[in-house]
Amino acid sequence: MSGAGAVEVHRLHLSDVTPAPHLPWARPTFPVFGLLVVHPDGPILIDSGVGIGNRFIDQLYSPVHHSIDEALDRHGLRVDDVTTVITSHLHFDHCGQNSRLGGATILVQRAEVDAATAALYTVPEWAFPPGVELTMIDGDLEVANGVQIIASPGHTPGHQSVVIDDGHGNPHTIGGDEPPVPPPGHGDQRARPVGPSPSPARTMQGDPRTLHGDPR
Ligand SMILES: [Zn+2]
Repeated sequence: MSGAGAVEVHRLHLSDVTPAPHLPWARPTFPVFGLLVVHPDGPILIDSGVGIGNRFIDQLYSPVHHSIDEALDRHGLRVDDVTTVITSHLHFDHCGQNSRLGGATILVQRAEVDAATAALYTVPEWAFPPGVELTMIDGDLEVANGVQIIASPGHTPGHQSVVIDDGHGNPHTIGGDEPPVPPPGHGDQRARPVGPSPSPARTMQGDPRTLHGDPR
């Protein structure tokens, strides 16, 4: 997706992941993306993909990493240029490289931080990288002109989605692991069901062979 106006959105292919055959959500290899929002106020990254170097994740998901540095460089940016990170939720495949982004404001819902302290929810050192501050928010927030965080609990208790106006009055929704929410003025955002999603990962919570969080 790319807006022709002041705001552009680019998909960054950060990893390829292959769930191990014993996982209930086993499926063929699939890509994991982050999204770069090129905004006049500074680059915004939505989700940072799978982290690097965790043996448990390597065994379960066999991630093949593609450099976030090279992905950003294709747009003339470096990691340190990113001013804002929006983490849709703290599953391992959405916050994995936040450790590289400590110079940015990292926005995550307070409810998600609370949820992510549970055992096997995520990779703790990726969700809460040492020395990296998370900025916790409660509910919706306008991050920049035309970039709006919408709280969208369901897949996780503190999931958040992003609505972006491309500069031509066309709203685009980015759902993380949730289906897109209706953009403002295009339906009742609060009509969405709130509660546990039927994510297969939820059925495995507490099973030490797995890690809570289906990458999709
Ligand atoms: Zn997830």
